[in-house]
Amino acid sequence: MASRGFVTHSSEETIDFGRGIGSRLKPPVLILLVGELGAGKTTLTKGIVSGLGAAREEEVTSPTFTLVHKYEHGACVYHVDLYRIGDFHDLETLGLEDVFAEPNVVIVEWPDRLTLRTDWPVVRIELEHVAEDERKIVVSDESGVLAAQATRAPSS
Ligand code: ADP
Ligand code: MG
Repeated sequence: MASRGFVTHSSEETIDFGRGIGSRLKPPVLILLVGELGAGKTTLTKGIVSGLGAAREEEVTSPTFTLVHKYEHGACVYHVDLYRIGDFHDLETLGLEDVFAEPNVVIVEWPDRLTLRTDWPVVRIELEHVAEDERKIVVSDESGVLAAQATRAPSS
């Protein structure tokens, strides 16, 4: 029951799905978003951040060039995109040492480009492009940080 798969049929449905996850998250938690370009990682993040109440979905944009965005409104959420990590080698050179200093929500796209060490609960979410508007989303919640109902399919 630690890993479950879902399919969405529009970006709105993926945002809704993310909102369901965000509304049930308790910091500290590290969320790893795995998938190719265009798989929907940033789209899902819009929902997670808005579900946490930290920002509206339209305020959440890709941190591809700046590597990190911070949303702070009630919950503190860091949205990190390591796609262009280039010559940075660790969180310190990235200026991200504060990210894990407090119990925050940290969402990371392309997490495999850096070794992330933390004893926080980790939720790993894999997104896969199935068809133009269809995405497969597999949520692995080994630590059980998401309640049972967190992995319910998005309501329509
Ligand atoms: P990534 O961050 O993984 O590179 P984005 O979220 O930036 O991906 O982009 C996903 C693109 O796919 C967006 O243009 C979005 O509108 C589109 N899309 C189409 N269908 C879906 C879906 N079911 N879920 C998420 N995105 C979708
Ligand atoms: Mg992205």
